[in-house]
Amino acid sequence: MSTTFAQLGVPESICRALERDGIHEPFEIQTATMADAFAGRDICGRAPTGSGKTLAFGIPLVVNATDARSKRPTALVLSPTRELAEQIATELRTFAGDVRVGVVYGGVGYGPQLKRLRDGVEILVACPGRLEDLIEQGAVSLGDVDQAVIDEADRMSDMGFFPAVRRLLDQTSRDRQTFLFSATLDGDVKRLTRDYQYEPVTHAVDAETPDITVAAHRFWQVNKSERVAACVDVIHAAGQTIVFCRTRHGSDRLTHQLTQRGIRAAAIHGGHAQNRRTRSLQQFIDGNVQALVATDVAARGIHVDDVASVIHYDPPEDHKTYLHRSGRTARAGRGGLVVSLLQPDQMMDARRMQRRLGLDEAITLPDAGGLPTESGPASERFADVPVQAGRDSNGHAGRNGQSADNGREQSGQRARNGQGARGNQPARNGQGGRGGQPARNGRGSSGAPKGGGRGRNRGNRGRARSSGANR
Ligand code: ADP
Ligand code: MG
Repeated sequence: MSTTFAQLGVPESICRALERDGIHEPFEIQTATMADAFAGRDICGRAPTGSGKTLAFGIPLVVNATDARSKRPTALVLSPTRELAEQIATELRTFAGDVRVGVVYGGVGYGPQLKRLRDGVEILVACPGRLEDLIEQGAVSLGDVDQAVIDEADRMSDMGFFPAVRRLLDQTSRDRQTFLFSATLDGDVKRLTRDYQYEPVTHAVDAETPDITVAAHRFWQVNKSERVAACVDVIHAAGQTIVFCRTRHGSDRLTHQLTQRGIRAAAIHGGHAQNRRTRSLQQFIDGNVQALVATDVAARGIHVDDVASVIHYDPPEDHKTYLHRSGRTARAGRGGLVVSLLQPDQMMDARRMQRRLGLDEAITLPDAGGLPTESGPASERFADVPVQAGRDSNGHAGRNGQSADNGREQSGQRARNGQGARGNQPARNGQGGRGGQPARNGRGSSGAPKGGGRGRNRGNRGRARSSGANR
């Protein structure tokens, strides 16, 4: 509460840029990690969605970025999805000043990405697949990367990206500083940490899920045929809503049904081309679409800071998914509404899940009249989104991919042991520029946003961070 970004050692120019975006005080995870990050330590951060992890790694990344040569970024952020990658890049650019931020992911043409890499970027935000592809083409090399971030590591693992992540990290500088952020730090993520981080400082911010306490939770018993009408009622009562469906097909169908009932709805799932997903999201962000009908995979990492409500149209797979979905509303301490639509045969599971979550709301008949209504427009409030292509909401492909990859992953692990040597190296402090000062080697200590002109695209941002469709 009391600490300011400046007190954490954040350069003034960055503080000012953050202020301009209404970011005045650091969130908990940011306070927790910043000093260690500036000191050059590896950071392992566990914090729930919406807790501000992007700035927690983004600020140190920008502050410590060293000049890059053509095709040789000096900082790398790995992201599981294109939308998240775009949104990270967009967020970083708001305060990056003259530190150049590039982003690469699949599903779009190579031309602009190749040019950007040729021109040079200090910070490269990338999805693993396209990055490996570009490396193979000789379009980029990671040899100069001395800061690496693995964002949403748990999702990256779920999606089967860890073997690629390992191969990529293996190509970066041994002296690099490595940040890893994840909602959970067990299993594969723990192994990745063990193998690729040097004496990391772990900062955990608990998911004491604000959603659970801040949002109003409703559990409605409905027949299959009543679900669409119930959705319509909630959307009318609450405002902008994310509706979760189990499958792509289900989300397409519901989108159609909502549209027929006069709701402006858009589906967002991995079966749609990138452009279309970006467009749907943007329309939702702009408030032109009232309901975003999403699969779980598509919704990963989306934050819309302040969606008025979340509907579990199909029940979540488990209580964690309930939390994750529900976390789309009631962010940043605001109220929100979460409605579960339960068919008779889903009640038992729902009760079990309620117990796990400590929710004791009664399961009732639909009662739109009794819903809390939110004042104010639900539009200008968003953050980051990943949509995973080529995979459906059930994550089956992800899981298969993952096990299929395991063998490779292990060998990669062993092959890389040399890295352990890093253990005895004098911390990466020698690199200067660290240690909390603003200086970014030769680029002037102020980090002054000369970048104001460099396509920072501020106008597009507002408080709503979209997927940066126009880059
Ligand atoms: P996470 O990656 O942990 O899910 P983000 O980094 O995307 O969360 O941040 C979630 C939202 O909170 C974003 O809209 C971001 O701009 C906003 N935010 C982050 N830090 C702060 C802060 N210190 N003060 C106000 N808003 C913040
Ligand atoms: Mg994030």
